[in-house]
This record gives sequence, structure tokens and C-alpha cells, in this order.
Amino acid sequence: MISTLITGIGELTTNDPELGRLTDAALVFTDGRVEWVGPASSAPVADSRIDVEGRAVLPGWVDSHTHLLFAGDRTTEFEARMAGRPYTAGGIAVTVNATRAASDADIADNLRRHVAEAVAQGTTTLETKTGYGLTVEDELRSARIAAQHVDEVTFLGAHLVPPGADPDTYVALATGPMLDAVAPHVRWADVFCEQGAFDEDQSRAVLEAARAKGLGLRVHGNQLGEGPGVRLAVELGAASVDHCTYLSAADVDALANSSTVATLLPACDLSTRQSLPPARRLLDAGVTVALASNCNPGSSYTTSMAYCITTAVLQMRMTIEEAVTAATLNGAKALRRSDVGHLSPGARADIHVLDAPSTTHLAYRPGVPLTHAVWRAGVRQR
Ligand SMILES: [Zn+2]
Repeated sequence: MISTLITGIGELTTNDPELGRLTDAALVFTDGRVEWVGPASSAPVADSRIDVEGRAVLPGWVDSHTHLLFAGDRTTEFEARMAGRPYTAGGIAVTVNATRAASDADIADNLRRHVAEAVAQGTTTLETKTGYGLTVEDELRSARIAAQHVDEVTFLGAHLVPPGADPDTYVALATGPMLDAVAPHVRWADVFCEQGAFDEDQSRAVLEAARAKGLGLRVHGNQLGEGPGVRLAVELGAASVDHCTYLSAADVDALANSSTVATLLPACDLSTRQSLPPARRLLDAGVTVALASNCNPGSSYTTSMAYCITTAVLQMRMTIEEAVTAATLNGAKALRRSDVGHLSPGARADIHVLDAPSTTHLAYRPGVPLTHAVWRAGVRQR
């Protein structure tokens, strides 16, 4: 049991309702857990001591939405989009072909490389989804690889009806043999409920089958236009509905009266030249809002949570505090995790030290890499 004291903290964001935000603070962690938090002047003695010299400390990012089980890239599609071609759900098929053709080792290496990239920028909890296999074997392979490398794994067999397949036959596969094979390796199931992907009835079938298997639910909804995704997510008690770019007043009301988190993915909206999601409307209505990267090779190829925060503050009118909470505590809520996303005593020691005196600098200094040090479960990552 080796204890570590981090002292000289200029600003400590705990996300603990009683501790709040402290200045001139210190924190002790032991065996991967936070043990003590308080003023630097009353810090207990520990086995080792690190002075962060006035820097800001906050919980590591909780990135609750990524798609990192893939091969290949989609630079050509991105260039075409930047030249004016619209984004559609169909581009996913390009990555499906590349992923099916890749070896297990290549998929695992690609996943590890992107996870390392995220951790180096302060991400300490990461969810990722299958969904570029779309056969029983390929989805199972993705889920198995993911379970070895990330905290939370989601089955997204219902990402796209594979080109040439009959939609009803494919839904029967994804809610039957594919779900049976993948379920033991994942905690969550998700569906791309959108024009060009899965309609309301198909999405409901996917989610109900997954729930019957004991999986928690997540939904991709309301990305490219208003639709049934948010309503369905709330009705079925999903932990999160992600995108929420186009919302009716009824959608906002439904979210406000539910425990479903609205996870906004602004890097995706920028990369697909969509409108940004109505964060202010959601927050003012009392909805729990999370921010995530949606890192994937097609519509949002970034692992940078800081970029999402900068966008949320500068363009979506969220306050710094709202954006930081959305990328930490509320990301954890979107994954129904109570051990991460905050630095209360007992929490996992996921600690992010900024090379800045306050979290305000995340938006005040856009584009500047500010991660100084990262611990995950008490283990130094950088
Ligand atoms: Zn996604």
C-alpha cells in the first residue's frame, strides 16, 4: 500500500457535491483509489509526494462514445465532404469492408494506438463499439478484442444493414444469433436509429432483444434530422441517447423527465458540417448532458476531449464548468458508472493535471495541448 500525495494544486475540480472546486489543494491516492482530498495545508503525510506547482487538477476524461474497432481510413470521403458532398450513413460500408479484411492483430493494434492517443490527452475511461463487422464472426471478434483493451464495450451490430442484405433478415440476425454470440463479451447494446440506417420498429426490436439478454441500452438518435431515437431511448430506459443534434420540444421534455443522458458529439457535427446540438436548450431544461468524441474514421476522427470542450464553450454556449462536468461526471453517468468521473475519496484515482492554472484554459487557449500528467487507477500514464 504505497500512498502518493499530489500537492500544490492551484485549482482542484472534484465533481463531488460537497467538496466542489478547491484552490491551493492536495489529494492523496493509495492502491488506485482516491483516499483524501482537501486544503494543501492540512494534507496528511504520504509515501511519495508530487508538487504540481499551481497547476489545475481534474478527473480524467470519460469518453463514453467511440468506434475504435476498425481498419483503414476515409480521407477520400472527408475530402469530398469538405468539397461540398453531404454526409450519409452509407459511408460506414467502406470501413466494414476494410475491417473484415484486416487481421485480428491489425484491429487490436489500431485499437491500442487510438486508446494510447486518447490517454495521452487525459482520457482515463473509454467506451467503444463494435459495428464494422456486421457478421456473427466479425462482430464477435471485435467484441473480444475490445474487451481486452477498454473499460466499456458496446455491441453495435445494428450500425448499418450491410449492402445487399435484406433489412428484415439482417435485423433477425442482429437480434438472434449475432446477439447471442456477442452478449457475453459486452455490457451495452446500441442502434443507429436514423434515416438510411434503422427505422423505429427495427430499432425497437434491436433494443428490446438486447434488454432481454441483460444488456444496458444506448441509442444513436436524432443526428441527421428529427426522428424517433430520443423518444425510443427514453421509453426503453436507455442510459444515453447520443448525437441529439435535431430535437423537438417534446424530445427535450422527455429527456428532462428521464434518467437518460443526452450525449453530444460536437466534433462529429463539425466534421459532417451539420448544425451543432442545442446544448443550451437541453441544459436550461434540466437535461443531463455529456460530451464525447465519437472517434471513428468516417464522421469524427478525433480522440480529443479538449477539442469537444472548446467547441462546447465557444460555439454551443456551455460554461466551462458545464463542459468539464459533461466530459467527466456526466460521461460516467452515461455509462452508469459511479467510480469514475469524480475525485471523491473512494473514486478510482483517474487524475488529469493540466499545464495551466485552471480549467478555463481549455477554452481560453483553444487547440493548445494542455495535458501535463495523467494517472489511471493510480498508475502514471504520462
Ligand atoms: Zn457513434
